[in-house]
Amino acid sequence: MHQLETLYRQIIMDHYKNPRNKGLLEDDSYIKEHIKNPSCGDDITIQTRIENGRVKDVRHDGSGCSICCSSASVLSTLVKGKSVEEANTYTKNYLNMIMKQPFDETIDLEDALAYQGVTKFPARVKCASIAWKAFEATLKKASE
Ligand code: ZN
Repeated sequence: MHQLETLYRQIIMDHYKNPRNKGLLEDDSYIKEHIKNPSCGDDITIQTRIENGRVKDVRHDGSGCSICCSSASVLSTLVKGKSVEEANTYTKNYLNMIMKQPFDETIDLEDALAYQGVTKFPARVKCASIAWKAFEATLKKASE
């Protein structure tokens, strides 16, 4: 179990230090959502571009703790290229996982599995969830 925790910590630190898909674009075809977490200063904006029912691109920017910023990067790599339906399923499973709710373990959350450990730190659950909640909100806006 210790080895797994070390691996998970490495995944989180890697995405924190080398964030993927970071930086927002001046492009109206992206749907934007901004969420703040006052309890630890996390401030994240997610931009999603949907084309033909697929998540064509996800961008993120903001500042915050390592859990929050890294999870935005992990999210962007995981859902990019997926259909909107799949992206919704992944997001729900991830959020259920970190909130200790039942989730479908047959869906491979890849690097996002690294956040399983936050269930042990209730104060950090919000940090790990805001990027995903912002992303979920962009999908919802797109369907309206
Ligand atoms: Zn945080």
